[in-house]
Amino acid sequence: MPETTSPATVLVWYRNDLRVHEHAALTAALADGRPVRALYMLCEQQWQRHGVAPLRSWYVLQSLRELGETLARMGVPLDIVNAGDFAEVPRLLGKYLREHTVARIYCGREYPLNELNRDRACAALAASAGVEIVGFDHAVLVPPKLLMSGQGTPYTVFTPYRRAWEKWLSAHGPLPAPTRRRNPGSSVLFAGNALIDAALSGLAVPESLTSKWQPGELSARKQLRRFIDAGLSGYRQRRDYPALAATSVLSTALSAGTLSVTECWLAARPALQDAASREGAECWIGELAWRDFYRQIMANFPRLARGEAFREDTRYIQWSSDNSRFQAWCEGRTGYPLVDAAQRQLLQTGWMHNRLRMVSAMFLSKHLFIDWRRGEEFFMRHLIDGDFAANNGGWQWSASTGTDAAPYFRVFSPIRQSERFDPEGEFIRRFVPELAGLSAKSIHAPWRAPVPPDNYPQPVVPHEGVKERVTAAFRAARTMMESQ
Ligand SMILES: Cc1cc2nc3c(=O)[nH]c(=O)nc-3n(C[C@H](O)[C@H](O)[C@H](O)COP(=O)(O)OP(=O)(O)OC[C@H]3O[C@@H](n4cnc5c(N)ncnc54)[C@H](O)[C@@H]3O)c2cc1C
Repeated sequence: MPETTSPATVLVWYRNDLRVHEHAALTAALADGRPVRALYMLCEQQWQRHGVAPLRSWYVLQSLRELGETLARMGVPLDIVNAGDFAEVPRLLGKYLREHTVARIYCGREYPLNELNRDRACAALAASAGVEIVGFDHAVLVPPKLLMSGQGTPYTVFTPYRRAWEKWLSAHGPLPAPTRRRNPGSSVLFAGNALIDAALSGLAVPESLTSKWQPGELSARKQLRRFIDAGLSGYRQRRDYPALAATSVLSTALSAGTLSVTECWLAARPALQDAASREGAECWIGELAWRDFYRQIMANFPRLARGEAFREDTRYIQWSSDNSRFQAWCEGRTGYPLVDAAQRQLLQTGWMHNRLRMVSAMFLSKHLFIDWRRGEEFFMRHLIDGDFAANNGGWQWSASTGTDAAPYFRVFSPIRQSERFDPEGEFIRRFVPELAGLSAKSIHAPWRAPVPPDNYPQPVVPHEGVKERVTAAFRAARTMMESQ
């Protein structure tokens, strides 16, 4: 029988949402009543253009394999189309719609600029073919253009955003998605393994990195359960100490969508009723709010996706172009133990603790006065959880160029941060073995030790004077903007 006479199917177009649980698009497609197919457009060149870390690509590809097999057991074939980059996606989608007699597409919405442009082109093409696209905001708890301030403008300050966010969620909060139904028909075979293997073979990610991570939805959901049971109640007190590993480390799963943020929120909510765990749950839910906050910033201010700073006056800042200092920061050789331990954690594991991301980003943008965009890009090239909105938000917060950012005169002392958040030097010793023999007193500033280690560098810049230099540069930038 020719393909065009086969019954119409509905399509779930997978992107950064590689899961079957709490997946609004899949749930809606299965409830539609027609046969369901799923599609993933593989865009390796686009990943390269976006500077995605090979480790993250590895995580996505391995998770895709698990997804394909899970969907196959549900009777939903997952097709992987090798598109290369976003520019090719509309044409290949058009071809796919014709070949499979697709009547409707269900997908999750994405908010960064390139993704929006891709989706606009696809929507026009689908409309001309009479195919409806139904989008869902299942990557966030609150859709990004929904909450507006009293002035009718997007929120740019976190605290009032969080208040409105909580209020909206209490009134309309997501309910658990209804139980999934199987596709009409029996199990199918997943046919995408060869394409995944080919893509993986081009990545060359060392096993020392991949062995630290467990891709896929199954493991992400287990990790969430473990964190809720064992980590949530103490989260507020313990989360800032990198040696304790007291955070959820779910950012990779959340950014690739192997775990749904709705599932996280629903799992943490019951702890709010328990006096012993309320504080921890409130604090952790607050981090989920930060995640939504930066996504709505990205959606409402698309100029950020073109590399612009949120604060316009900071465009006039003359950043340092000292490449040898930048290189020392990249490699964890700044002479500041906590910064170096942070950077080495990133290089050796593909992940960095949140406190350290702030310390390290502030060090690059304030002590070394190097353009935050260089750090943002470096993080993206190494982070397994590299997420455009959160990374850009975190960098602009640290560099004081962003919305609701740290004020420019606030400069973390890398020594004081080290004494406060790694008091025994336990985390430093793990990643900077040259300092393993120093006492807890000396390890934060080894150049002051009675016998400084001779295989560890002197500080690349002194901490003293940084605040004054940064303050002067920010003031000069403002004056320059005002005189234009
Ligand atoms: C300079 C800088 C760069 C960053 N780059 C990224 C990035 O590329 N990808 C990324 O997911 N996060 C990024 N963050 C935010 C944060 O550091 C990580 O989300 C967090 O360290 C992940 O650890 P976790 O999963 O254990 O978080 P938990 O403390 O367990 O928090 C739970 C979840 O909330 C979200 N979250 C937590 N803190 C933030 C935050 N400040 N902003 C937005 N979402 C948050 C994450 O999805 C996280 O998994 C960055 C922060 C800074 C300061």
